[in-house]
Amino acid sequence: MDHDLVFQVKKTKPKAFNLNSRNMRELPKGVLALTWLSGISLNNNRLLSLPEGLHCMQQLTELNLGNNAFEEMPPVLKHLHSLKKLHLFRNRISTLHPEVLEGLSNLVVLNLNHNKIRIIPTAIKSLSNLERFSIADNQIEEIPAELGLVRKLTEMDFTRNSLSGIPHELYELTRLRKLSLARNALGELPEGILGWKNLRIFDVAGNRLSVFPADFQFLELEEFYFEGNNLIRSELFKSTQDEEVLPLKEHAARFILKERLNKSSLVSNALQFHPGIQAMLSRFGRCAVCFEPFLTTWVECVRFISLRKDMGIKNSGDVPVRVFLCSYSCFNKSSCSYYVVCKVKP
Ligand SMILES: [Zn+2]
Repeated sequence: MDHDLVFQVKKTKPKAFNLNSRNMRELPKGVLALTWLSGISLNNNRLLSLPEGLHCMQQLTELNLGNNAFEEMPPVLKHLHSLKKLHLFRNRISTLHPEVLEGLSNLVVLNLNHNKIRIIPTAIKSLSNLERFSIADNQIEEIPAELGLVRKLTEMDFTRNSLSGIPHELYELTRLRKLSLARNALGELPEGILGWKNLRIFDVAGNRLSVFPADFQFLELEEFYFEGNNLIRSELFKSTQDEEVLPLKEHAARFILKERLNKSSLVSNALQFHPGIQAMLSRFGRCAVCFEPFLTTWVECVRFISLRKDMGIKNSGDVPVRVFLCSYSCFNKSSCSYYVVCKVKP
């Protein structure tokens, strides 16, 4: 029967070929002769492997292997250099071999949802043309920093994994428009979230977040999902804090930072002979009240942002966003409702 089917295909020479839901354990050999094909769909079969001969299909741009029995990414895929869309959802894949990823540099869409993957290899950085990456419903505990090098990514889905954090390098994905980190175990998001300047849809529902990173309110989100976290509750108490005495190092650092921001040539000339100090000073922050630079965050507090009023998102509700201040003196004079966080026993 498969033979007849392939024969028919040879006569009509369609670009794409569908062998979905045929209960196949192996790819029929005749398919390998159809070297002009640009798409093959083998969805919902019982395939465990693909023949090495598949490498002759160099026109193939789309391959759907979803709902099969693969336990690894088939090794022959590394030879299919034209492949742009690869669907491997609902298989039993536990391992992603780096050498297979390295051969897939033209891939634009990769769907690995519903597998048993624990580790994303650092070779993920080879997918330099990848725009849409879904790996929902797996067992990923850690995202490698190298994913931040896949700069064309616009959509990522990490829903229902075991992530406890994300690397700050992900903020280098400036084209990202849609991101789901829902149903993981995230306790915190790193600082620097404004790197995601094109993010419009953001889902972090069902994690353990207590506060959002500084400047979160400046993201231009259109949809935001955050239910089911451990957000700091806004039970507010008025208080003022005694002013502190800064250590000498902090005083000196603030003085030099300020001079450098004012473009003092004396300071910049002196600093060029001290690369260690320059590196240390490059990690400075600025106070949310007086905008003066500081080296060490002196007061970390939160501000409650109204999603509707401050961010123009349709959701109702407020979320706590982290704010850094240079001193208690700024905290005391702030009219902007910043709150120091303290733990209260239940
Ligand atoms: Zn200040």
